[in-house]
Amino acid sequence: MICVNGVTKRYSSTVVVDGVSCRIQEGGITSIIGPNGAGKSTLLSMISRLLPMDSGSVTVDGLDVVSTPGRDLAKKMAILRQDNQLTVRLTVRDLVGFGRYPHNGGRPGPGDRTHIETAMAYLDLTALADKFVDELSGGQRQRAFIAMVLAQDTDYLLLDEPLNNLDMKHSVEMMRLLRRLTDDFGKTVVLVIHDINFASCYSDDIIAMCDGRLVHQGPPAEIMRSEVLKDIYEIDIRIEEIEGNRIGVYFA
Ligand code: ADP
Repeated sequence: MICVNGVTKRYSSTVVVDGVSCRIQEGGITSIIGPNGAGKSTLLSMISRLLPMDSGSVTVDGLDVVSTPGRDLAKKMAILRQDNQLTVRLTVRDLVGFGRYPHNGGRPGPGDRTHIETAMAYLDLTALADKFVDELSGGQRQRAFIAMVLAQDTDYLLLDEPLNNLDMKHSVEMMRLLRRLTDDFGKTVVLVIHDINFASCYSDDIIAMCDGRLVHQGPPAEIMRSEVLKDIYEIDIRIEEIEGNRIGVYFA
């Protein structure tokens, strides 16, 4: 379980995450939704220790993210950042191989190779394995970074907008893959996502943020209601039930 206790982040006098507390249960998909600038990325970055917090605490399976040694934490939790920049020229296979670093310290063995090839196969990258990352399309590159996160083989996966740059086919495949990771392998996935309908169809739990505060948390049936979504996004969203899923209609 991830326990977030009163986490706050300020930039000079502006509070961008304001005393957020929540519990994220293990073995499911939790989606963090909310408008631009609500503090979603900042919260995820503090949970994963990419960003220091000003106050509060976060534990992952009882490990305090601030005081636990980095390598121990990296075996427990992997993160996909939103801004993935490479300063060196790497092939897809080499990039994915970096996911194994916390386990092998840079000396890969046969077990590592299996993880790398499996992660690439999951992300439909096998044919691109020897290509350089800077030769890929935006969506292919996004998948390569996700494969790296997967190769880390952690109990917890934190993904900041994993559907960025992905076309419809690869978006659906990504969400199905995340579902499979939780259902079949007991992984815990936390993601920041903009598409409320993907969040509705694939999540066990949804956290909604507004103005740095956590304003709603609950299963899709509770969050996917017009009055709740209006509270979050300040627009009218009609809810239709389609094949057992609640779909928000807001295109017109
Ligand atoms: P979201 O992910 O919900 O779109 P963010 O967490 O990225 O929101 O940002 C929350 C707020 O914090 C925004 O208003 C953003 O401008 C501000 N912010 C983020 N990073 C910085 C920074 N490094 N310096 C100052 N303000 C920042």
